[in-house]
Amino acid sequence: MQYSDFYRQSIDDPISFWAKEAKLIDWQQPFSEVLDYTNPPFTKWFVGGKTNLCHNAVDRWLASQGEKPALIAISTETNTEHTYTFNELHAEVNRTAAMMLSLGVKKGDRVLIYMPMIAEAAFAMLACARIGAVHSVVFGGFASKSLATRIDDAKPVLVISADAGMRGGKAVPYKPLLDEAIALASYKPERVLLVNRGLEAMTLAAGRDVDYASLREQHMDAEVPVTWLESNDISYILYTSGTTGKPKGVQRDVGGHAVALASSMQHIFCGKPGETYFATSDIGWVVGHSYIVYGPLIAGMATIMYEGTPIRPDAGIWWSIVEKYKVSRMFSAPTAVRVLKKHPSELMRKYDLSSLKALYLAGEPLDETTSSWIAKELGVPIIDNYWQTETGWPILTVANGVEPTPTRLGSPGITMYGFNVQILNESTGEECAANEKGVVVVKGPLPPGCMQTIYGDDQRFVQTYWSNFYEQQVYSTFDWGIRDADGYYFILGRTDDVINVAGHRLGTREIEESISSHPQVSEVAVVGVEDKLKGQVAVAFAILRNPDLIVNAAARMALEGEVMAVVDKQLGAVARPSRVHFVAMLPKTRSGKLLRRSIQAICEGRDAGDLTTIEDPASLVQIREALAL
Ligand code: AMP
Repeated sequence: MQYSDFYRQSIDDPISFWAKEAKLIDWQQPFSEVLDYTNPPFTKWFVGGKTNLCHNAVDRWLASQGEKPALIAISTETNTEHTYTFNELHAEVNRTAAMMLSLGVKKGDRVLIYMPMIAEAAFAMLACARIGAVHSVVFGGFASKSLATRIDDAKPVLVISADAGMRGGKAVPYKPLLDEAIALASYKPERVLLVNRGLEAMTLAAGRDVDYASLREQHMDAEVPVTWLESNDISYILYTSGTTGKPKGVQRDVGGHAVALASSMQHIFCGKPGETYFATSDIGWVVGHSYIVYGPLIAGMATIMYEGTPIRPDAGIWWSIVEKYKVSRMFSAPTAVRVLKKHPSELMRKYDLSSLKALYLAGEPLDETTSSWIAKELGVPIIDNYWQTETGWPILTVANGVEPTPTRLGSPGITMYGFNVQILNESTGEECAANEKGVVVVKGPLPPGCMQTIYGDDQRFVQTYWSNFYEQQVYSTFDWGIRDADGYYFILGRTDDVINVAGHRLGTREIEESISSHPQVSEVAVVGVEDKLKGQVAVAFAILRNPDLIVNAAARMALEGEVMAVVDKQLGAVARPSRVHFVAMLPKTRSGKLLRRSIQAICEGRDAGDLTTIEDPASLVQIREALAL
C-alpha cells in the first residue's frame, strides 16, 4: 500500500482506520465505540473495550513462544547478563504482582518506581499493568527534590526502589535520596519495596520498608489473574518538564496506548515476533516505556535492558550485544552516537552486525554529520523520529512497514498516520507555506497512544497544550518547524523554555528554582546553549545578594561549584548547568520578563535579537563580559 493512502485514510476516516489497527492486540471485551470525541480536546479511544497491557506484552505470547527470550537484562556495571523467557518473565511478573497485592496495592493506586535499569524494574511496571495499578517511573538520575515533587503529585501507596544504581563503575546510591525525598514530601507513601543489589548498605525503616527478595520468596508460585481494564483507565503517569517549575504528569490510557504501540512496532519499527529489539534509553523516559518495555514485548520481540554506558568496557560494547543477541532493530539518541564517534570505528567493525536492519534515533535533533557517519559505519538505514513524552510514539518519521520511504538528511521525516500535523504562523495562526517557519501543531483528535490529560489537572492540559492559538483549538508541540514542498519536516528547536541535554528534557524554570534556593543567589536565568556533544547544555547567569563575595577568581569558582552542588543534590547531576556565571543584572523587558532568548543568542555567538522592549541594554554587556571571564 502507498503510504500516502494509508495516511489519508487515518485522517479522513480515523474510525475505520483505528478499528482495524485495534485488531493487532487482544481484547477481553470488544469496544462499543472507536472514538468518543464529544468533549474535545479530550479523546476516549475504544470506549467500552477491555484489555490489559501485561496480557498483551506477556501472557499472549506464552502459547506460541513461551520458551523464547523476552527480557534480556545486561549490566556492564555489575558484569551480569540474564535472559528471561516469556514463561520466566510471566512467572516473575506474577510474583511481583502478588507482592504488590500483599502490600495493599489496589486497582487505580499509584506505584512510584525509582529504579536503575535492572530486570526488577520491568517486572514492577508489568506487574502494575497486570493488576491495574498506575505506575509512575521516575528517572534514577533525578535527586530528592525532583522525586519529592513527583511523590506529592502522584501520591503513591507504594514506592519500589533499590539500594543503588551504577554508572561508570561507581555505585550511585538511590535509597538515601529516596529517604530524603520522602522526608521532603508532604505526602508519605505507606510502603517502600527495596531491591538489595548488594551495592550500598541500606537501613530499612521499620514498618515501612520491605526487602524485595524476602517478600518474593513468599510468592514464588503466585498466579495473579490479569485485571481487565476499560480502555480509558489510566495505565501510567510519566512526569515531564514544562515551562513552570512544576513537572506535568503525562497520563496515558490502556487500550489506545496498547494499540498505538502494537501498530507503530509493525508499521514504523518493523519488528517481528522472535526478533530482538535494543533500545538504549532508560525506563525513566518515554522511550523506555514505549520501546524498551511495552512496545517490543507487545510485538512478541525480546527486549534488551541495558545498564551501563556506551563506552565501557570500550566503545564496542553495544555492537557486541547486537552480535550476540542478533538484534534486528536498535533505538538510541544522537548524543550517544556522537559519543561513539569519538572512539575508533574498529571497535564497531569487529562485530558481525548482519542481523541489524535499522537504527532509529530520537529525542533531539539529528545533525547531518552524525547521521552520515553512523550510516556509513553500520551500513543500515538510520531513521530519525520525532515525538514527545506527550505523544508516546512518533509524530514524524518514515513508516517503512507500510511503504519503503526515503529519508532526507536533517529531517526526521514525514507525518505519521493519525497525526494531522500543521505548521502555523505564531502570530496569525494561519498555516505556513512550504519552507516557512512556524509552530508545529497537531489538529485534534490526537491519535491513540497520546496523553489523555495532565494527571489530576484537566484544565492545565487544555490551557498548556490547546490554547496557544486564538481562534483554533490545536495541540501545540512547542517546537518550531518547517515543512518542505515534498512534505518532509525540519525541527528547529523549542518555542518555550524547555531544553534538551543529551536527549533529556529539562525545564529551565526547574533549574532556576533550584539555583535560587542557594542562600547567596537572589536571581538567576538558565538558558540552553548549543553543545557539540550533548546537543544543548544548561548555562546559568546568577545575581548574588552580596557581589563582594567574589574577591578573586578562586572565590568565583568556589561559588560556582557550590551552586552546581545544590542542583546536583536537589534535581540530580543530569540537570547541573555546565557553567554558572555571576552578573549584576539580567536582561529583561520593561515589563520584567527575562529575555532568555537574547541571553541564549549571545552565548551562542548570535545576534541578541529584537531588543526594542529591553529595560537596560547594559545587561547584555554583562552577559558578554561574564562569558569572556
Ligand atoms: P521528550 O518529551 O523528552 O521526548 O522531548 C520531546 C522534545 O524533544 C520534542 O518536543 C523536541 O523538541 C525534541 N525532539 C525529540 N525528538 C526529536 C527529533 N527527532 N528531532 C528534533 N527534535 C526532537
